[in-house]
Order: sequence, then structure tokens, then C-alpha cells
Amino acid sequence: MTCKDCDKNIGPQEKQASMEALGVQLCERHTRLIKRVILQNDTSVEAIQLFYALKEAGAHPMLEWWDGKKSVDIAISRVKLNIEIDKDYNMITHEQAISDLEDAMHSFKNGFTTIRIPHLAIKYYLDETVTNILGIISGLKANIKAI
Ligand SMILES: [Zn+2]
Repeated sequence: MTCKDCDKNIGPQEKQASMEALGVQLCERHTRLIKRVILQNDTSVEAIQLFYALKEAGAHPMLEWWDGKKSVDIAISRVKLNIEIDKDYNMITHEQAISDLEDAMHSFKNGFTTIRIPHLAIKYYLDETVTNILGIISGLKANIKAI
């Protein structure tokens, strides 16, 4: 068993503690670091799970990337892709909905693509979610080359 972040060998207790808290296999140090990120940014555990799944798939994601105005859940900088995890569609207010769309417009103007992923997709279809994001990344890469 190794930490998904630093590849350090971890024991069964470390694995159990990180799986229970975050749903990702991490060493004690990385569990602590990620918990701090969650406290600071109100990051969802689904964002953490997706981050490590994308990292494992070789997509080089960045967690809680500061875009100059706000923190983006996950960013893939080389193709300027921002990924936001929607926590609960039922909880979204109309103000939040239009503000999300405005945010997407502003980042688009700066050359960034923003995709919003419902947390349920990550919870139930993590592999498919990763496959689709990898598809979006290669699509964006092709577009960058075409310019
Ligand atoms: Zn680690």
C-alpha cells in the first residue's frame, strides 16, 4: 500500500484513516495536508477523489488553484481547463446559478474553459468521469494546436 500522493509506503491504520476521512489512500502527512485544504477552501471530498484519480491518470491536475479572483477546485493548466464540483444541485439558488455562469464567461474570455461536474457523477462514476475529462483535455489540446 502506498500513498497516492507521495508513493510512500503506508500501514493499514493510515490507509483506513485516510479512506474514512477522504476516500483516498494517503499517508498521514498528506491526509493532514488535504484536510487543511478542505478547511481553508471548503473543498468537497469528491473534488479530492477526482483530483487524485486525474493525477493517477497522468492529467497533472492542480487542487484549489487560485485564478486571481477565486479558487478553482481543480485546474489542468496546460490546456487552461477549470473543473468545479457542484455540491448539491437542489441547494443552488438562482443568484448562485447566474453568478456561476458569469464566472464561466469571465474565465472563458481569459482563454479558460470551465466545466462543472455534479458531485454525484464523481461519487458513482469516478472512472467514467475521469475518462470524459481526459477526452475534454485531448480535445482542448487539439484546439490549442490548431490555433
Ligand atoms: Zn503521502
